[in-house]
Order: sequence, then C-alpha cells, then structure tokens
Amino acid sequence: MIVVENLHKNFGGIRAVDNASLTIRTGSITGLIGPNGAGKTTLFNVIAGHYRPTSGRVLLDGKDITGLSPHELFAQGVLRTFQIAHEFSTLTVRENLMMVPPHQSGETLFKAWTQPGLVRREEEKNRAKAEEVIEFLEISHVADELAGNLSGGQKKLLELGRTMMVDAKIVFLDEVGAGVNRTLLGTIGDAILRLNRERGYTFCMIEHDMDFISRLCDPVICMAEGTVLAEGTAEDIKKNEEVIEAYLGTG
Ligand code: ATP
Repeated sequence: MIVVENLHKNFGGIRAVDNASLTIRTGSITGLIGPNGAGKTTLFNVIAGHYRPTSGRVLLDGKDITGLSPHELFAQGVLRTFQIAHEFSTLTVRENLMMVPPHQSGETLFKAWTQPGLVRREEEKNRAKAEEVIEFLEISHVADELAGNLSGGQKKLLELGRTMMVDAKIVFLDEVGAGVNRTLLGTIGDAILRLNRERGYTFCMIEHDMDFISRLCDPVICMAEGTVLAEGTAEDIKKNEEVIEAYLGTG
C-alpha cells in the first residue's frame, strides 16, 4: 500500500502538488483523473522518485520512501511507465523483453530498464521469462517484429511486458490508453485486469478516457489544482458535482 501524506511540490512559484493526501491500496487499480495541470504527472514523479517533494511524505507498506531514487524504488517493485513508451526500436519485441534481466536488483535493474545497452544480456536466463510474458500478453504474432514498427498500442503492451520481466509490484501507468485504437485499448485493459487479478499487481493509472477508467479502476481519484478533489467509484465520481465542474464538464 502506498500512502501519500500532505504532499507539496513547488516549481518556483507554481504549486504543482498542493497538499495532496491519498492512498493506493495493495491489489487495487486506482485511477487518477483531473484537468490539465492538476498535478497528476508531478504526483507520479514524486512517488516514483523522479522529483523530491517540497514537503510531505510517501509511505510504502508503512515505510517512509520519500526521496528515494527511482532505482531504489524500482528494486522494491515500484516503477512508472511513461506517456511515450520507452522501447528500443531497433530490437525485436522478444529482444526488448530480454534486455530486462529478471531477478536483479538496485541500480543494475534500473539501468536495464532505462539504458539497456549498459547491461550485458543474460540470454538464456531471460529467454524463458520472455516467452512466458509473450504468451501471457498474447503477442506472439509480433514477437519477432522490430519494436520500432509496432503501433502505439502495441508499444504500450510491450511496456507492460517489461514490467512483468522485473516482477513489478506497484506500477504507475501514465496515460497508457492515450492514442490507442479501441481494439488494442480493450486488449491493454484485459492485460491490466489479468495482471491485477492473476498476478497481484497494484496499478495506479493516469487516464482521460472515462470509459476505460470505469472498466478498470476502483477507486478513482480526481485531482484539481494540485490537490485531491474527490475519491470514489467511477460511478460516484461521474456524478460528483465538484468533479463535473472542475473536469468532466469541461470536455
Ligand atoms: P496533464 O494532464 O496536462 O499532463 P497534470 O495533471 O499531469 O497535467 P502536471 O504536469 O503535474 O499536471 O503539472 C502541474 C503544474 O505544474 C502545471 O502548472 C505545470 O505547468 C507545472 N509543472 C509541471 N512540471 C513542471 C516543471 N518541471 N517545471 C515547472 N513547472 C512545472
């Protein structure tokens, strides 16, 4: 479980996150919505160790993880994906998966995630795991395709596959559905649900598509002006007058 307590993050005079408190329950798929500039991405970046908060705390299962570096968090199974997927375009899907060595920890693992060229491939050890991921995500038809040739949605699936290679526990997904066609969006949604139900993954996802959110997320947290405006089931959130005024009514 991740608990965010009274988090603030200022950029000069801008209060990007302004006294946000929220809980991401273990085993949940928590949705994070809100208008542009609400502070969602900044909150992700603080939790995942990319920014230090101005003040406030982040707890992982009761342990203070505020200010830990991304690779320290990564070693504990906490990681974020990016709105623009970070695949390696000149490698095949299978090779991309195999570049992330499972069962390693700390900085090596983080480098493998962000800069795979720095880490020697441990081919045989990774092959079996990669095959398992390919089967789970049902992407065998593109396993030998260069990642650079994949569609945006297929790249998002590959990104999910890479989180499986490192046995992530809590994954922050930044607009995994953005720009993805309806069919692949369904496939990605299925994969997220199965990872949650069958593999015990906890997800927190920033999304703008309320249908996608409604299908996957409970609870849904709405941020506005750097703080938490409302939290509830997707159905509750859709009916919440403050949320409609700040966000849903604006689209
Ligand atoms: P979007 O849905 O558009 O991605 P968001 O809810 O993710 O929005 P943030 O990107 O976290 O919002 O931005 C919150 C506020 O902080 C905005 O006013 C933004 O301009 C500002 N901000 C974010 N990052 C920085 C930065 N590195 N330097 C200065 N200001 C920033």
